[in-house]
Amino acid sequence: MVKAEGVHKSYGAAHILRGIDLEVRSGEVFCLVGPSGSGKSTFLRCINHLERIDGGRLSVDGRLVGYRQQGERLYELKDSEVAAQRRDIGMVFQRFNLFPHMTALANVMEAPVQVKGETKAVARERAQRLLDRVGLSDRMHNYPSQLSGGQQQRVAIARALAMEPKLMLFDEPTSALDPELVGDVLDVMRDLAESGMTMIVVTHEMGFAREVGDSLVFMDGGVVVESGHPRDVLGNPQHDRTKAFLSKVL
Ligand code: ATP
Ligand code: MG
Repeated sequence: MVKAEGVHKSYGAAHILRGIDLEVRSGEVFCLVGPSGSGKSTFLRCINHLERIDGGRLSVDGRLVGYRQQGERLYELKDSEVAAQRRDIGMVFQRFNLFPHMTALANVMEAPVQVKGETKAVARERAQRLLDRVGLSDRMHNYPSQLSGGQQQRVAIARALAMEPKLMLFDEPTSALDPELVGDVLDVMRDLAESGMTMIVVTHEMGFAREVGDSLVFMDGGVVVESGHPRDVLGNPQHDRTKAFLSKVL
């Protein structure tokens, strides 16, 4: 579903991604861990067209991200083509980023109506179903300020799902939450994983990675240092850098 081959990304002189190679299979929960500044968020942002890569190849569902290839040459996609690619990808951030002036229900209805031109009736029906699925059927008419962080994050997940994405990206979705609220969000993610969604999850929740993850990559300094089944990488890390990192977070 996602394939990165030698992906590079710099910000000015700062060379952040230094040749990322990885493959995320369809239906897989792919966990990305690594120290602060290692480039995890940058990599997710590249997948989701928030940043453009400077080298290598990155594809989602068999299509290059942001480019079209003709013969040996790459052409940048038009804005409308980029928008079409982005529609298939849902992203959930550390901060919930809900529209503060809209209820939970309106937040979840917004993109299908505005971006896909769906009727409000269709969007509302799906939004109600999704909010029910994330355990918030009694909170649909609340505004974000009336919800806990964990509830807001579950609305954010429902909002991303409303676009019926093929791929969901999670960037430390629980690290801004009070500890007692983390479990409800992880339960929603586990449920989503069981439904077969392809998910890339940047997280420090090693319990989640071990129980729900199918693959785990340890990244440091903009490269993949070590990868494998979460049980193996977490239980029997091979590289010193992985060992040093895990000794701090486990
Ligand atoms: P964390 O665990 O703290 O979230 P991360 O692995 O997600 O870290 P990134 O956010 O990808 O790391 O950042 C990697 C590096 O890129 C950092 O040194 C950061 O300062 C730098 N960086 C990120 N975004 C930009 C930007 N827009 N302009 C310049 N430098 C940036
Ligand atoms: Mg980050």
